[in-house]
Amino acid sequence: MILPEPIQKLINGFERLPGIGPKSASRLAFFLLRADASFSDDLAEALTGLKDKVAFCGECFNITMAGHERCEVCESPKRDGGVICVVEEALDVLALERTGGYFGKYHVLHGVLSPIEGIGPDDIKIRPLIERVARGNVKEIILATNPSMEGDTTAMYIQQQLEPYDVRITRLARGLPVGGDLEYADQNTLLRALSGRQEMD
Ligand SMILES: [Zn+2]
Repeated sequence: MILPEPIQKLINGFERLPGIGPKSASRLAFFLLRADASFSDDLAEALTGLKDKVAFCGECFNITMAGHERCEVCESPKRDGGVICVVEEALDVLALERTGGYFGKYHVLHGVLSPIEGIGPDDIKIRPLIERVARGNVKEIILATNPSMEGDTTAMYIQQQLEPYDVRITRLARGLPVGGDLEYADQNTLLRALSGRQEMD
């Protein structure tokens, strides 16, 4: 069957999204076709200028509204700046925020070290993290990279880099599924991993 171009274009677009195969892409496109026009208009509006409307926090590299220097967490006087939880992606911040049990701040690396893929320390936000620690007032760094080989390698590298500084370094407790992503862990598992965090040695 040959589809009209606008639908085929939409299907092609959906297919490029993570986790969406050809079947799901077609299903989504036909869902939109049947739904109220206002639904697809709202969606289109949300997509338009997405990249221009969103920026990265100048302190922790979490996502924030364009025009804001710092994200909500960094701005909040209720958050403890003495504790920094280091995560791979901004999505991990969301996962930890959903637990409602973390009151420190964050640092988003935007990736992990991966010699195979040629990703080195300067390709992710490690240096700005060291600089934050060097500025002082940081008591604890929680390394919350995913429990994968790259996540562990990255955590170990950061630990080495932080050796000269007087800061407690902890790693999330095991119990998170190995090779799994923080963002997919359920809230209780994540909360347990957080409260059971251990010193790195
Ligand atoms: Zn921030």
